[in-house]
Amino acid sequence: MLKRFEQEPADYHGMKYAVGVGNGTDALWLTFLALGIGPGDECLTTTNTFFATAEAIWIANATAVFVDSEERTSCIDPARIEEAITEKTTALVPVHLYGQCADMKPIRKIADKYDLLVIEDNAQAIGAHGDGFPIGELSDAATTSFITQKNPGTCGDGGAVVTNREDVDRAIRRLRNHGSEKRSCHSMGYNSRLDDIHAGVLSAKLKHIDRWNDLRRKWAARYSEGLKEAQHITLPYEKPGYRHVYHLYVIETKRPEQRDVLLDFLNRNGIDAKCHYPIAIHQQAGYPWGKPARIAGPMPNSERNAACDLTSSASARCRMSAFR
Ligand SMILES: *Cc1c(COP(=O)(O)O)cnc(C)c1O
Repeated sequence: MLKRFEQEPADYHGMKYAVGVGNGTDALWLTFLALGIGPGDECLTTTNTFFATAEAIWIANATAVFVDSEERTSCIDPARIEEAITEKTTALVPVHLYGQCADMKPIRKIADKYDLLVIEDNAQAIGAHGDGFPIGELSDAATTSFITQKNPGTCGDGGAVVTNREDVDRAIRRLRNHGSEKRSCHSMGYNSRLDDIHAGVLSAKLKHIDRWNDLRRKWAARYSEGLKEAQHITLPYEKPGYRHVYHLYVIETKRPEQRDVLLDFLNRNGIDAKCHYPIAIHQQAGYPWGKPARIAGPMPNSERNAACDLTSSASARCRMSAFR
């Protein structure tokens, strides 16, 4: 089942290879290992993301370097990347946050100029695309998570890596299966398989992903229409030519001191809202726990996201009830 399933995300992304792994975090760090990223290598990413993006860099024993995000999309700001590059920089790790692609074209240009690897953290945006670029095409590999709450999620944990690089696919296949390419022959590896049960669930669900994403987009448009007169919040920004798949519908309050009041109001009125990433990674207590890390410069956008964002990953029922 797994083998059959792996062809499906590969075809869906228009990529040569897809390899299933245990979860989205493993997908990232196994990719780093497969690409030879390790101690001393700097990986540039964002601090307004799920913790696992940075954690995977640290699991690979590499250095996490945090670059501020764009003001309107909350994805890594390409204009801040070059100044963060040093001779130790090896890779760029953009995150397609909340369901919208990071600005991959300038990221690819910078990677070419400085000879850097690019790994897309696509745990939140399967089915999204940028202005003239699909996910996976402008990078060495794109990783994803299939945990239940992602779109599409399985009934537990799962993850995958899609790539056009045969060497990356092969290395991850070996690493995920105890370093084995041939029965009973091993080199050092790990256990991070996507099992057949989840492959079966995902195979059934992946067929519907475009339709489900269309529904998310419809609900998001309905939210934005209903909220367009609201004075004290900023609505999600969809870049022209991009397909945002709204893994999360994120509003930003202009009054951070009242965010909790607003959150409570939404929840009391049947809207399943939360704060995703209220503490940016570089603001976590004890950061960076003895791990190699660097903050590339001021982080005004990331810190504003942490202080002001409110997210809804609402189910269809909750979303619709908001404007009935
Ligand atoms: C969910 C997520 C991950 C990690 O996925 P797991 O399957 O939970 O390990 C990594 N990066 C981002 C941006 C995520 O949203």
